[in-house]
Amino acid sequence: MTAALEAAECGRDVVLVERGPTLGGRTALLYRYFPKMCHPTCGLEINLRRLKGNHRVRVLTMAEVVGIEGQRGAYVAKLKIRPRYVNESCTACGDCATAVSAEIPNPYNYGLDQIKVAHLPHAMAYPQCYVLDPSVIGTADADKAKAACRVGAIDLAMQEETVELSVGAVVWATGWKPYDAAKIQPYGYGRFPNVITSLEFERLADPSGPTGGKLLRPSDGKEAKNIAFIQCAGSRDENHLRHCSRICCMASLKQTQYVREAHGDGAKSTIYYIDIRAIDRFEDFYQMVQRDSTVGFVKSKVARIAVADNGDPILHGVDTEGYHRYATAHDLVVLAVGMEPESNGIKLPGDLITDSSGFIEGTPDGGMCGAGSASGPLDVNRSVQSSTGAALRAIKVIYQTAREEA
Ligand SMILES: Cc1cc2nc3c(=O)[nH]c(=O)nc-3n(C[C@H](O)[C@H](O)[C@H](O)COP(=O)(O)OP(=O)(O)OC[C@H]3O[C@@H](n4cnc5c(N)ncnc54)[C@H](O)[C@@H]3O)c2cc1C
Repeated sequence: MTAALEAAECGRDVVLVERGPTLGGRTALLYRYFPKMCHPTCGLEINLRRLKGNHRVRVLTMAEVVGIEGQRGAYVAKLKIRPRYVNESCTACGDCATAVSAEIPNPYNYGLDQIKVAHLPHAMAYPQCYVLDPSVIGTADADKAKAACRVGAIDLAMQEETVELSVGAVVWATGWKPYDAAKIQPYGYGRFPNVITSLEFERLADPSGPTGGKLLRPSDGKEAKNIAFIQCAGSRDENHLRHCSRICCMASLKQTQYVREAHGDGAKSTIYYIDIRAIDRFEDFYQMVQRDSTVGFVKSKVARIAVADNGDPILHGVDTEGYHRYATAHDLVVLAVGMEPESNGIKLPGDLITDSSGFIEGTPDGGMCGAGSASGPLDVNRSVQSSTGAALRAIKVIYQTAREEA
């Protein structure tokens, strides 16, 4: 959004291609932002206002780039656009959702609860337009949704489309995805219900999340007051991701404050860490959390997790400061999972250079470049800075191409 807006506000025409039904990326799924602890509504609201007021940005949702040909200044991007089954007449009244009964695992809460097959992704979704899950097509629910819509917005005949766009420069802002925690076998993610990821914890803490903001553990719905955070879950590990994901320390420090917010002085958070990486102004936040009497730190790479009969996860390892073994029970374990490029696993144009982890740098001629967390594991502030830089590089390409052609 930032790269698109910066380029458009400099007078360039921009097509913003989003794979999902809404803009906002993973930022929209955070409960609060470090270091100020405000809600993501703040930043998104500002960008959405800029977007609505700028006719130079054309937003295509449910769209994915499937191929790019050409060179700097003269690319043809091929897009596949999936059907939303709801057109622009949608007023987001919600009648279609009321009419249908089938549900699917809620992708915006990482599958922790269910969502109706006709739904608005979340309150801040842009466009404010419902979407029908493809599984509904051909079922009685599809007809019920169509019948319930008073403005004729449900279009069950929508088909997948392929579109070609001529563009001068391409900014890859495809973001990140969490490392698959199930691959860290000794931690039992997927086998032990009370071992969850840091992303799932964001949703648990959020009042619009699956538990209405209560920190309830998945196995039995018990309130989780004594919570362990395991750092470097997948990061800085030759067997998983080699790189430091940079965000995870700050994310866990922030999440200890969700526990305090929920339980006051009765909260207990323990961070198991190799070393805490909180740079620049984040150091102040780290020091604030260190002073919090509800937060403890254990310098140790947790070796394995077992589960007690009552469902409590028990962490086993060696404390590298005292060199003593521990076997400590907690209500809930949060794995601070690493970030890897979302583009890992998709076919990128041949001349696009990536680093050893797959983060996108750009093409040698500068016609394409990475932005935000597609270019490295970055927090929101640094993603925004990187995207402003990417917009400037794209504008330069367009400007130079026009000059060469003149
Ligand atoms: C647990 C956790 C907590 C965090 N908390 C904070 C915090 O408090 N403060 C902070 O500053 N940062 C935080 N972060 C980091 C923050 O989430 C990122 O900085 C931010 O999401 C980066 O934004 P982005 O737009 O680069 O990428 P993303 O948020 O990943 O957005 C990328 C967008 O691209 C779309 N996309 C992907 N592939 C394609 C494709 N092929 N075609 C079309 N569209 C595509 C996606 O659907 C998505 O909308 C946290 C991270 C974690 C793991």
